[in-house]
Amino acid sequence: MADRPLGPSTSVIHAALGRQGAVVGGLERSVIARFDTAARFARVMAGEEDGFLYARLGSNPTVAAAASAVATLEGAETGLLTASGMAAIHAAVVAHLPARGRLVASNALYGNTLSLFRDHLGPREATSVDLVDIRDLDAVERACAAGVDVLYAETIANPGNTVADLPALARIAGAAGGRLIVDNTIATPLLCRPLELGATVVVHSATKFLNGHHDVLAGAICASADAAAPISRVLVDTGGVADPDSAWLLTRGLMTLALRLDRQLDNAEELARRLAATPGVRAVPYAGLPGHPDHALVGRMLGGRAGAVLPFEVQGGRAAGEAVMDGARLIERATSIGGVISGISHPASTSHRQLSDEELGRAGIPGGLVRLAVGCEDVEDLAADLDQAIRAAA
Ligand code: PLP
Repeated sequence: MADRPLGPSTSVIHAALGRQGAVVGGLERSVIARFDTAARFARVMAGEEDGFLYARLGSNPTVAAAASAVATLEGAETGLLTASGMAAIHAAVVAHLPARGRLVASNALYGNTLSLFRDHLGPREATSVDLVDIRDLDAVERACAAGVDVLYAETIANPGNTVADLPALARIAGAAGGRLIVDNTIATPLLCRPLELGATVVVHSATKFLNGHHDVLAGAICASADAAAPISRVLVDTGGVADPDSAWLLTRGLMTLALRLDRQLDNAEELARRLAATPGVRAVPYAGLPGHPDHALVGRMLGGRAGAVLPFEVQGGRAAGEAVMDGARLIERATSIGGVISGISHPASTSHRQLSDEELGRAGIPGGLVRLAVGCEDVEDLAADLDQAIRAAA
């Protein structure tokens, strides 16, 4: 091969190749390894020799292959695979917070991430948790001025489409002695590689775009070997690792990530344009549209594409939002994002129901906001379904 870097699709497809001549990697279900000698058993146990030992210690070969494929995509030295996106977020953040540490996080995050910080890390781990408007860099700087251990943001926030200025946030965190941890689930490494923009750790819900087929629950963590080491210790002690079946399916899903994402982005962009011109739609806060406050940042940081989570607000508040959902005939009323099948949900009553009205407001989730998880169907079918659902709800 010419000595030029491989493109992302090529590198991930080839990162997932099998061993010993197999084109496709095998599925190794065993949770323990057997050893030919006591001495080798002891050396692997002591960490003096690499090898598969016990699945919770993170060394199952199928899990390791999937973790390394995700790391390749993120340009990371080390990848870890977890049981879910939340297990990844928990392990990454806890590992980088000292006792009575300081966590500053965006106030526009996935609902369970907000409740993990608010209800568990804050009160139980005696961590100070400060939720800020991540678009207001002065506010972030003020929050970090007293010292910060972890600054946390989603590259593109679910569902409100706030885009985090990662180079600026990395500078602020670094100047205050902290580390930036980024949830890159919606952007995916094909739109943005946060480690190259100054983040210390990237986390994913691999359940979403990375797998893409609604049949795997998994998470991923990518970092340098140094930054991954304490996270790996948390995973070993809390047992938040992924299982081999999920890892195998994830590896297969990853091979078509670029194809799927391209179609999903095309669909999302076209639907956003049409929704913006649809009577009954009050706003389309999709960062891919020129009027969005983060549109310029999408151009600078995400190659001009804003992901395939498309929020739109209908006139008539919560009841109208729920009525649009009820009217969908093709698009599935379902939670989750990033898969081939389009889904529609009403965040205020589902994924973000644990937030107060005030918290919903801060996270950019009015009652009439509907979230479209755009899939790979033909765009005309999706557009027709949305059109009839919005008309029926009016
Ligand atoms: N991060 C984001 C942006 C999400 O949307 C989700 C789930 O919807 C998660 C994390 C949590 O991932 P999981 O459901 O795999 O635990």
